[in-house]
Amino acid sequence: MSKSYLDTLPNEDGFFGKYGGAFIPPPLEKPFAELNKAYDELSQSNEFHAELNSIRKHYQGRPTPIYFAKNLTKYCGGGKIYLKREDLNHTGAHKLNHCMAEALVAKHLGKSKLLAETGAGQHGVALATAAAYFGLECEIHMGEIDIQKEHPNVIRMQILGAKVVPATHGLKTLKEAVDSAFNAYVADSENTLFAIGSVVGPHPYPKMVRDFQSVVGREAREQFLEMTGELPSHAVACVGGGSNAMGLFSGFIDDEVKLHGVEPLGVGTKLGQHAASLTYGEEGIMHGFNSIMLKDKDGEPAPVYSIGSGIDYPSVGPEHAYLRDIGRTIVGTCNDEDAVDAFYKLSQLEGIIPALESAHAVAYAMKLAKENPNDSILVNLSGRGDKDIDFVVEKFPIPTKD
Ligand SMILES: *Cc1c(COP(=O)(O)O)cnc(C)c1O
Repeated sequence: MSKSYLDTLPNEDGFFGKYGGAFIPPPLEKPFAELNKAYDELSQSNEFHAELNSIRKHYQGRPTPIYFAKNLTKYCGGGKIYLKREDLNHTGAHKLNHCMAEALVAKHLGKSKLLAETGAGQHGVALATAAAYFGLECEIHMGEIDIQKEHPNVIRMQILGAKVVPATHGLKTLKEAVDSAFNAYVADSENTLFAIGSVVGPHPYPKMVRDFQSVVGREAREQFLEMTGELPSHAVACVGGGSNAMGLFSGFIDDEVKLHGVEPLGVGTKLGQHAASLTYGEEGIMHGFNSIMLKDKDGEPAPVYSIGSGIDYPSVGPEHAYLRDIGRTIVGTCNDEDAVDAFYKLSQLEGIIPALESAHAVAYAMKLAKENPNDSILVNLSGRGDKDIDFVVEKFPIPTKD
């Protein structure tokens, strides 16, 4: 059998074509070399996979189901829409898939502490959950402004036993939280695993996080085949950093399934109004890897915006840049308004309140369904929307059901 895509990419230096790599300062070379070696071994270890599978089944509640969204399909009047229900994963989103696995890597490496930055707090909550499970310390760096804005997630992290460290310099948001977490890591890399929250960052994180999310695609392929006797025509996922998308895509990458990544178009196409990095960005290095990014006039990461606070990232995982370049994926967009419309439609037609991030993928799938009446469309419903309800109803009145 010829080697599959997943066995050949990234290469051993972490490159997907020209994208990826590890652009790190000298003090981090040693801890990254250690992590690379350890992950190479662990990814071949039956014991590691058996332990991870057991966690997936007994703690996370996997496999998550696939659901045929019959009412939404009928409403769109076209192709069939199916949902991979990552919103039913413990803690309500796909993020726990990589957080539990990263924590398991930390345990095998003999580390005592998990460290990360968080923007809206979703990654912080998932990591704090994993830390509690494994009895590890957890330190989450967060901009002081974000701490005020995302109060419920801060409380959740603290209840789960994590220490939330405010980043108090500069604009006091995600970028400063990255700096702050980074400095804390350099100071104590001996005892700490830096747990990156998507398929971004220096090698090996894009590969590692893809591997950990690939459970979504593996399950989905098998379940879809069992349910319908064939593969879907399209697989659709929202793309921030790109982890839930790579999770789903990896299951179908060697098949004739069209893969669609949906970027947030926010409130417009001007810089600062959206976070559609692949759509409007250019090649550049940020946060330790080469990819496509949105730059300001000085070449620094540009300010970004989306109503989905988990997808407003100024770059994208290097593998997404590569797959787009070689024509394997199709990159689409969805703006705030269409995402909110899909948020309400899925809630009222199917009884499923999606995360605003996931609603971008749903909105895109609804259009695809209308345009392709004979096709089947599998959407990764990356998370549930409980976290978004107060914000949505305040800004966008609840529509009357028609
Ligand atoms: C964080 C988050 C995302 C975006 O992350 P990716 O790495 O792009 O998948 C998408 N959906 C939900 C529900 C999230 O919490």
